Amino acid sequence: METKVQYLGYTTSALGSDSFTAINPYDGQAIDGFFVDATSEEINQAVDLAEKAVKICRKTANESRAAFLEAIASEIEGLGDDLINTGILETALPQARLQGERGRTCGQLRFFASIVKEGSWVDARIDTAIPDRAPIPKPDIRQMSISLGPVAVFGASNFPLALSVAGGDTASALAAGCPVIFKAHPAHPNTSDLVARAIIKAAQKTGMADGVFSMVHGRANRVGEELVRNSAVKAVGFTGSFRGGKALFDLANQREEPIPVYAEMGSTNPVFILPGALKDAQGLATGMAGSISLGVGQFCTNPGLLFIPKNEDGKAFINAITESVTTGEGGTMLTPGIKVAYDNSKASLEEQSGVKSLAKSKKPASTAGVEAQVYQVTASEFSNNPILAKEVFGPSSVIVNYNDKEDILTIARNLKGHLTATVHGTHEDLKDYSELFDILENKVGRILINGLPTGVEVCHSMVHGGPFPVTTASQTTSVGGNAIKRFVRPVSYQNFPADLLPDQLKDGNPLKIMRLIDGELTRG
Ligand code: NAP
Repeated sequence: METKVQYLGYTTSALGSDSFTAINPYDGQAIDGFFVDATSEEINQAVDLAEKAVKICRKTANESRAAFLEAIASEIEGLGDDLINTGILETALPQARLQGERGRTCGQLRFFASIVKEGSWVDARIDTAIPDRAPIPKPDIRQMSISLGPVAVFGASNFPLALSVAGGDTASALAAGCPVIFKAHPAHPNTSDLVARAIIKAAQKTGMADGVFSMVHGRANRVGEELVRNSAVKAVGFTGSFRGGKALFDLANQREEPIPVYAEMGSTNPVFILPGALKDAQGLATGMAGSISLGVGQFCTNPGLLFIPKNEDGKAFINAITESVTTGEGGTMLTPGIKVAYDNSKASLEEQSGVKSLAKSKKPASTAGVEAQVYQVTASEFSNNPILAKEVFGPSSVIVNYNDKEDILTIARNLKGHLTATVHGTHEDLKDYSELFDILENKVGRILINGLPTGVEVCHSMVHGGPFPVTTASQTTSVGGNAIKRFVRPVSYQNFPADLLPDQLKDGNPLKIMRLIDGELTRG
């Protein structure tokens, strides 16, 4: 088997001895390609190179930085079917899903390129001097955001392209002018290797500094931990489990110099079905069953909790969803390990008092094959047992029967942080339950009406985040234009001579960006 390498800027290396391979989730067999955990020396080399690159990256013209992001997208597209076929082999995700995800990944890179070119993301502010102000003169103060420095990025297993090597965290950090050291996910190392090579090629073609991007492998937590502990790393982007994200967050806060950790973690995405929505119980149940099973339930926005009224319409909905799930096929999960975790989470749910299994789908014969499953509990059982609200990563959902509006409001008030909350109802229902929205604003990053939470649009107004425990930084988003703001910090320049100011803050606005001048937004 070929031994694969770490990418330390423009150098490659394979000094380590702890090796692993990817596992085919269909048959449990090793996939060609040996990977080795990065050594401490290799991790330090990647971070040293990134630290040296910071100064150059920060000063790189917007056009050049945007050209780099666009070149990454073109290089990824240039990988063609090789990328898709490698992804299918490692993750069991279907071809159409991976093709779609490649489209999202490249679209996201080009989206951040457009944000960089437009330029206003630096949030330039100018307060002009008033030298003759009494009793003391007002100085000339100008502010803009600059990149934080090297960023360590951890991707998730369930989006091997869009939330991995060239995913949203990498794209937004590079857009902000931060070098990235990516810790590859061991569930898809060959896919990661192809994408890392594409990024390195794009960096060389567009003349980026050595160290703008590195990628290290590691199955041992040591690799990620050493990255986060390295004093030259100035921020962490993480997508994955609560266990992993919280461990890295705690580690970053124990450093002599704590750093921000933007951890996007697990969520159960509550769905509130209000009484009027059940006039089309069959249609709603079919849509919801599809959303539960989509991608074998391996979506961070998977609807894990459904609140249904306890009445005849609610019964019709439950019958319809039971039928949809029972006739479904289940699917093959990303790794045999994730399948075991899914089975264990379901077993723990089934041990809880009052939990009734409503429906189970068929299960494929593959190594990581699982069934979709739906459970049912009463509102009081749910309210008294926090285990029932925990994420089960996979195609499973818990239906909670509620009696009245007060039940729903009490449940909503007791929710912890989630990525999304969905409310289904007629316009009358929505007005009648308006208090629910006041509560949900404090609980989630995105509230949807009459939709399905799976599917996250990459656009300027998207919030993919939410209060702890779904993230460790509720004031930001990991998807959408504002994601760039996670990797910058504002600096004020007081009484600077004109020729020493950055172009973004110069008189005459040479970059023609939107700026706040003496309290007024203008491109002037
Ligand atoms: P994961 O097991 O936490 O893995 C994420 C990455 O972190 C991997 O590279 C992993 O390496 C590393 N890691 C985990 N624990 C670590 C530790 N203690 N120290 C150092 N490194 C550590 O998560 P996953 O299985 O890929 O993803 C599934 C979870 O992600 C689900 O809960 C899902 O809901 C969530 N997710 C959330 C979002 C979102 O946007 N909020 C998006 C997608 C997925 P090792 O594998 O080697 O440990």
